[in-house]
Amino acid sequence: MANDLSMKERLALGRVHMPELDAAIRSRNFEEVNRGLGMEEAVREAKRCIQCKHRPCVEGCPVGVSIPEFLDALAAENLPEAARILQGDNALPAVCGRVCPQETQCEAKCVRGVKGEPVAIGYLERFVADWAMANREKLAKTELPPSTGKKVAVVGCGPAGLTAAGELARSGHGVTIFEALHDTGGVLRYGIPEFRLPKEIIDVEVSRLVEMGVEIECNVIVGKTLTLGQLREEFDAVFIANGAGLPTMLNIPGENLKGVYSANEFLTRVNLMEAGRNPNAPTPIIAGRQVAVIGGGNTAMDCVRTARRLGAERAMIVYRRGETEMPARVEEIKHAKEEGVEFVMLTAPLEIVGTEDGWVAALRCQRMELGPPDDSGRRKPVPVEGSDFDLPAEVVVNAVGTRANPLLTATAPALELNRWGNIVADEDGATSIPGVFAGGDMVRGGATVILAMGDGKRAAAAIGKHLA
Ligand code: FAD
Ligand code: SF4
Repeated sequence: MANDLSMKERLALGRVHMPELDAAIRSRNFEEVNRGLGMEEAVREAKRCIQCKHRPCVEGCPVGVSIPEFLDALAAENLPEAARILQGDNALPAVCGRVCPQETQCEAKCVRGVKGEPVAIGYLERFVADWAMANREKLAKTELPPSTGKKVAVVGCGPAGLTAAGELARSGHGVTIFEALHDTGGVLRYGIPEFRLPKEIIDVEVSRLVEMGVEIECNVIVGKTLTLGQLREEFDAVFIANGAGLPTMLNIPGENLKGVYSANEFLTRVNLMEAGRNPNAPTPIIAGRQVAVIGGGNTAMDCVRTARRLGAERAMIVYRRGETEMPARVEEIKHAKEEGVEFVMLTAPLEIVGTEDGWVAALRCQRMELGPPDDSGRRKPVPVEGSDFDLPAEVVVNAVGTRANPLLTATAPALELNRWGNIVADEDGATSIPGVFAGGDMVRGGATVILAMGDGKRAAAAIGKHLA
């Protein structure tokens, strides 16, 4: 046992705090909010782990990271070993350490959480992954087996596609990723802002795959530039991981006014094209003084916090339920509040009101109250008659959700879809077409990074069997 503390001493240790950039400063720049732990704090936190024999935290992790083992190595200050264990189980640990909802996964199952606070597994994952990125020369290179001569095409360069590509390359298969955008990472790059996930982390994680021989072809839209049929002719198997990036419309009057954005368009302009951040960026963005973001999930939080950083004096979340029903991570809500974001709760949009020349002037809203629970188990919002009011705004961002994009599937009629247009796949990712697998948001609808990665990992194993 690497931990030099007695059980009593371990149990007496309190949970570490993540240092954060001051809210007044960070709400006006795109620097990362969470600053990361130092070595001493990380080792001390790892020593809080009591090395449970039944490893409940591992069950809570969708990719089954060997949590007690990497924490034990960290407690013994053996960073190369901790990194080896972590990277062996998780293709994108520096990403997951930053964006995974650990509070509902591994940390929710942590035994230390029963009578106190769980071990800060996410912070420690981030610490070890960042150490590994800064100390690549101290880590053993991934040994690749001889080539199998088989070729696999991966559609989409988000977390599902990247994970599958890494697993397949590690098994000796040739892998080519086809990505519609001009850069890699999927939502990790174009959706999640830099103040939560710096872009260089994605660059490093992607470069690890390229070093393993994975080829990445950007600017290729499967369904337009190439068809699934062509990929099937050229490759021995295909993994489809093209996400769910099509915005759900609000279907209220005024959606076509100037100053209305879908969340994905708003975030892509800022994150991928540097609109509003770089004066030389060719892509513009309307940075309103008053910005209303409709929705209550992580995407809505990213939009509203981005709007604040672009200079909005009033950056508002408009959500039809209450704060306890919001699907966003608790940490995101806390950070948004500290940064001056206003929460207009129990409020639903009715119309976007425009000026005579077609610009957004206000969001017409109606107050709601909570009724009995609906199908989702959350209390249903019920309109309060006669409670309409106008919220002044120059920009309205629709962050109520996204759906599967039909570009690829429209050109592949043999692919079975569900009624929402998502590809139907079994537990291993196998679809209705032999040799074609699918995973991530394209199968699940909007989910999480780690679930998409889990799909990529399982599908890669199934593709390996298929090729054998
Ligand atoms: P994506 O990440 O969407 O990647 C799909 C890729 O396929 C994209 O690069 C796309 O350009 C490409 N593509 C699409 N169509 C084609 C085509 N026809 N041909 C070629 N390429 C194509 N999850 C968390 O766990 N934590 C968070 O904090 C979090 N925050 C989020 C914030 C935002 C703003 C958003 C939008 C989502 C967030 N999520 C979060 C959800 C998470 O990002 C997704 O569940 C995850 O990225 C899905 O991974 P994926 O690989 O299936 O798809
Ligand atoms: Fe350690 Fe918590 Fe996992 Fe137990 S459940 S092994 S204390 S991280």
